Amino acid sequence: MAQAAPAPADALDAFRPRHDFFVGVDSDGCAFDAMEIKHKECFTPNTIKHWRLQAVSSAARETAEFVNLYSTHRGLNRWRALVEVFDLLRERPEPARRHVAVPAGDRLREFITSGRPLSTAGLRAYAAEHPDPELDQALRWTDGVDAAIADMVTGVPPFTGVRETLARAGEQADVMVVSATPVEALEREWGEHGLAELVDLIAGQEMGTKEDHLRHAAVGRYDADRVLLVGDAPGDRAAAETAGVLFYPILPGREDESWRRLHDEALDRFFAGTYAGAYADALAAEFAAVLPSVPPWHEQP
Ligand SMILES: [Mg+2]
Repeated sequence: MAQAAPAPADALDAFRPRHDFFVGVDSDGCAFDAMEIKHKECFTPNTIKHWRLQAVSSAARETAEFVNLYSTHRGLNRWRALVEVFDLLRERPEPARRHVAVPAGDRLREFITSGRPLSTAGLRAYAAEHPDPELDQALRWTDGVDAAIADMVTGVPPFTGVRETLARAGEQADVMVVSATPVEALEREWGEHGLAELVDLIAGQEMGTKEDHLRHAAVGRYDADRVLLVGDAPGDRAAAETAGVLFYPILPGREDESWRRLHDEALDRFFAGTYAGAYADALAAEFAAVLPSVPPWHEQP
């Protein structure tokens, strides 16, 4: 899909390997316990409020949490995730029982396929050219979400074991933050928790997608089996696959355990060259099982 040209990746191109190995680490929901608070306290309440789902708030909440936190959609762009929530909620019995009309999201879908950047600024520009009440509602929703995040999300700590693991990784690998969050927020969060000193570079939204980060900083500079991306969402796994590098999953809901396993076991295998194959496949299967594609309410009789 056509998007705005990626921001200059000069810092990534200028990055020079000091080690034979490279470890990339996602931030939100991977190093920092930020996904739960953002979705449960910021996104979901605004979804219920701005899309008039008050009468089915329990079902709306369960659906929004499934999409954004506990399914293959985890980490999906906010607009794509929102229409997914609408679609899944609409097929549940609660809206009909309560006479609630779940939005169709047709104007949002047109925006999503328009080629505009899927950001708030992108929607604002698109809505100026295609005025519609649904897009105005979407702007109030996204502004409400961002205001709630600014108001609510501070002091979010890293998961247990992140510091020790990054320190260990840094003994033999170049370590880089690979994130879709704005760099300013990343530098603040990684700095305030004393983690910035453990990484060689912080790559965020302005430096392109996660695939861009890997392509510019790592691919071709290290052997492919000496590049590992650590992430918590299927989009991270996809970025690693596209770049042809290894992936280590931080399992949602089992993050501390995942970091301990990376520290105690997976890093050793990575450095020893025994990570790819059966070991990585078993981790991938575990990750897939934690993030199902079928909602739990479909499995009930
Ligand atoms: Mg993440």
